[in-house]
Amino acid sequence: MTTPEEFNLRAWGLPDPAELAALAAGWFPEFAGAEPAARTAEATARTAAARPRAPADWEALAAGPGPSPEPPAYAPLVLPQDRAGSAAAGAYGPPPDPAARTGNTYKYSQIYVGSRSLEAIRADFPIFREQVNGRDLVWLDNAATTQRPRQVIDRLSRYYERENSNVHRGAHELAARSTDAYEDARGKAARFIGAPSADNIVFVRGATEGINLAAQAYVRPYLKPGDEIVLTMLEHHANIVPWQLVAGETGAVLRVAPIDRTGQIVLSEYGRLFNSRTRFAAITQVSNALGTVTPAAEMVQIAHSRGVRVLIDGAQSVSHLPVNVSALDADFFVFSGHKIFGPTGIGVLYGKSDVLEAARPYQGGGNMIADVTFERTVYRKAPAKFEAGTGNIADAVGLGAALDYVSAIGMENIAAWERELLRYAMKEMAGVPGLRLIGTAAEKASVFSFVLEGRGLEETGSYLNSRGIAVRAGHHCAQPVHRYFGLEGTVRPSLAFYNTPEEIDRLVRALYELA
Ligand code: PLP
Repeated sequence: MTTPEEFNLRAWGLPDPAELAALAAGWFPEFAGAEPAARTAEATARTAAARPRAPADWEALAAGPGPSPEPPAYAPLVLPQDRAGSAAAGAYGPPPDPAARTGNTYKYSQIYVGSRSLEAIRADFPIFREQVNGRDLVWLDNAATTQRPRQVIDRLSRYYERENSNVHRGAHELAARSTDAYEDARGKAARFIGAPSADNIVFVRGATEGINLAAQAYVRPYLKPGDEIVLTMLEHHANIVPWQLVAGETGAVLRVAPIDRTGQIVLSEYGRLFNSRTRFAAITQVSNALGTVTPAAEMVQIAHSRGVRVLIDGAQSVSHLPVNVSALDADFFVFSGHKIFGPTGIGVLYGKSDVLEAARPYQGGGNMIADVTFERTVYRKAPAKFEAGTGNIADAVGLGAALDYVSAIGMENIAAWERELLRYAMKEMAGVPGLRLIGTAAEKASVFSFVLEGRGLEETGSYLNSRGIAVRAGHHCAQPVHRYFGLEGTVRPSLAFYNTPEEIDRLVRALYELA
């Protein structure tokens, strides 16, 4: 019988059990005086006894996912024009002959996301006028990065044409304009994620830097050898490696929450990972590899009930779901601007006031200080304490414009439209011969990863590219979860609200050709 821990260690390539046992020896102070060999033997026995009992289906899980599960039964896609009873009603569903799919089109000017037609929304994105390999671009690589609307591009231009200056430092007009624009963007970010105040928002380079900041500035100073950090099997490398770094530097260890065959967290097992040595937990809200929407609020509650603080990685959630960090009760929350239609090189770390106050500075320099002598420095309060040097002012302003853009459409409307698109995509793709969907959790957003029998990942990606369709093929910076499914990668189409059922049809048609 393979226990979850053994499986996780294997899948991860983390320290082997002997190494772990040696490390575990240090966890039991009562053995401190004993001979190393006796300590190791005792600690190994204690560690084995303390392991959580494996649920009945672990053996099967550890052996890999096995044959592809039955595709879930999806309700037929009901597009707005169907509801209105137009002539297009009933035009969907896989026709027996894939070639007949060319007739399966409709006018997306009739589809509304909130109060805006999809046609009008798409017209906001100049890149959709691009041709790739002689065809209209189909952008289904939104989990890697999203496209930018004219409103964001124009806002960046306006900043450089009319407001450009360093912030907080000058007594002149442009310093005031740029400071206003920068701080205004901070306020927009706070409102967008339901933070109590703009002071809870630290501008960073992106989700990756936000996680590194929390790990180094807040968690690391508290860690002692044998302390534990709880992660999940779903995490992106950005939410693994920073914790490995602080664990490696302090002698702390990582614990990994298991997932089930659909790619969802096993909540009952999650609670069992916490013990008196647990110091911190980090979880993704939406998996970039599988699209799983995790029960983040419940996981935070579990961690808090054990006195453990939690960071939520919102890189893949903010552009697809309404997010409220106060309702989630997250201690930290991170996201990247470029994944929500904003610029690259800018992102947000949200922190509760007390954790930001407790955290030490991440970097030192100008802007973050109240007073400096050669003997000591007095730091400013958060968020300035964490923003040493000149920040990415223009892109923060651009991020504010992106948040305005999606807010005007409405995140509830975006989530509802994407749910329909995802259901449509998964229903249509389930019919492609030899296609196996990876990640079939009931709560799922945006991503529909798959492997195609007899076709390599790169081969599939290249073929789709030859048809003008951009998808990601590979491990998507989430190797552990792929290996958990017995794979080294998948082909990953990922949606945003500007995608259309016609684009899904083009993808499915190309997959039929390839299959
Ligand atoms: N977390 C998740 C779930 C992601 O999908 C990504 C990027 O793909 C990141 C973190 C890192 O984001 P960035 O590269 O923008 O810092």
